[in-house]
Amino acid sequence: MPPLLYREPMPSPWPQSDPSPADRAAYADAEPRPFWLATLPERAAHDPLTGATDADLCIIGGGYTGLWAALAAKAENPGRDVLVLEATRCGNGASGRNGGFLEASLTHGLANGLSRFADEMDQLERLGAENFEGLRGDLTAHGIDCDYETTGVLSVALESRELPDLTEEAELARRFGTEVELLDADATREQVNSPTYVGGLWHRTGSALVHPGRLADGLRVAAHKAGVRIHELSPVRDLHTEGATLRLTTEGGVVTAPKVLMATSAYPPLVGAVGRYIAPVYDYALMTEPLSAQQQREVGWANRQGVSDMGNQFHYYRPTADGRILYGGYDAVYRYGGDVGPHRDEDDASFAKLSQHFFTTFPQLEGLRFSHRWGGAIDTCSRFSVFFGRAFGGRLVYALGYTGLGVGATRFGARVALDLLDGRATEATQLKMVRRRPLPFPPEPLRSGVIQLTRNRLAAADRNDGRRGLWLRTLDRLGLGFDS
Ligand SMILES: Cc1cc2nc3c(=O)[nH]c(=O)nc-3n(C[C@H](O)[C@H](O)[C@H](O)COP(=O)(O)OP(=O)(O)OC[C@H]3O[C@@H](n4cnc5c(N)ncnc54)[C@H](O)[C@@H]3O)c2cc1C
Repeated sequence: MPPLLYREPMPSPWPQSDPSPADRAAYADAEPRPFWLATLPERAAHDPLTGATDADLCIIGGGYTGLWAALAAKAENPGRDVLVLEATRCGNGASGRNGGFLEASLTHGLANGLSRFADEMDQLERLGAENFEGLRGDLTAHGIDCDYETTGVLSVALESRELPDLTEEAELARRFGTEVELLDADATREQVNSPTYVGGLWHRTGSALVHPGRLADGLRVAAHKAGVRIHELSPVRDLHTEGATLRLTTEGGVVTAPKVLMATSAYPPLVGAVGRYIAPVYDYALMTEPLSAQQQREVGWANRQGVSDMGNQFHYYRPTADGRILYGGYDAVYRYGGDVGPHRDEDDASFAKLSQHFFTTFPQLEGLRFSHRWGGAIDTCSRFSVFFGRAFGGRLVYALGYTGLGVGATRFGARVALDLLDGRATEATQLKMVRRRPLPFPPEPLRSGVIQLTRNRLAAADRNDGRRGLWLRTLDRLGLGFDS
């Protein structure tokens, strides 16, 4: 293990000044659309639902959760009539907007998992590893090409006070069997050349990078090929019991089904009670143009890891297969009432800050422009990991709350949700993590106040040597949190 270089505390690298005109100009002409979706081949939408139909299983939401569930249901029983209702286009939610960090963890990382499900962690890690391997196998089996790369993830420290946290993270990761490599400042910069780094931890196993849009679209194609009926542009407006079945109404049609899976993530839930557990938090991202050969050399990044920094408010960034850099995170924006929709896909203040922080991270790339900018809603829950529940007498099951780490965990969530719907007891359905729900958020207007206060305290902790004040320590003790 290379020795860690402890340095005198230095101030956070992020400028305290407003973003400059050059920072703003860099994204001014960017296409306001997720790069991952904008670069998929054009295709006709699946027809919206019209008229009345029935199905054995109806899935609401055509993101990763809904599509993995549809595929799994068909794989288990090809004769089962499975129908997906998607409000817009499949993959247009978080599944087509994320960073593409595919991680084995089902619990939003080891530390979060241990703080909530300590006695189940060995099991949860094993199930996470099986899911991670199974996902890769499914990609091969279904011929899904989503630029899968096992590059690992590099956690980078930007301040000396974060170095002991990296050491702790390394010990924990090793204890649970992840291969990690601790790097001093120079070794970290040899991996990715940023003057902001004072140390790093390279998680070499248990993670991969993917093209999120190609993953979502590949799942859609595979589900369609398997015989799943898919209707896009078909938002479910109403849901109620009709005898032993549920009746789902869209603008143009009606579906009757004995079993329904709700996989609607951060969007307004059709089961009112679920709203207590989910806070839709917006995360924003910029994508650069492809780097020139000279710019690539200046950045290094030969091992192409996903990178995230260690702040309470953190950035995530990564290279793409065609030589760009995605740069996202930092702000996590909750709006009063949990407002979600296309009108929230842009946030100039967040883009400006991201641009400024990008050029602070990579000053050698000054002059590079961003080709795409976008935002997406994260289904944050207070324990940062998927939870499940039943409604309408068990006819409906939901799997929600992945909180920013769902690229891999959605495959697990989809399968558990199916088992719950079908009444199958499995190892996973016995887990506390599956049986228990997170603590609810308070209702508005308290909810906005609490979330805003927590955000302010997190930012203050980052400015204040990372020290968590009374508010954050109180939340920690209650097992309540707010993250993206
Ligand atoms: C900006 C961003 C970055 C992220 N980065 C990462 C990352 O790097 N790694 C990681 O692991 N996770 C990341 N995540 C989280 C990850 O993307 C999600 O956990 C995952 O995509 C959730 O999938 P889902 O299918 O549950 O939800 P979604 O993909 O959001 O799908 C829900 C679908 O339901 C549909 N819907 C909603 N209401 C209705 C209705 N009434 N009727 C019909 N359809 C409806 C929506 O249109 C949507 O398509 C990120 C998320 C965001 C937003």
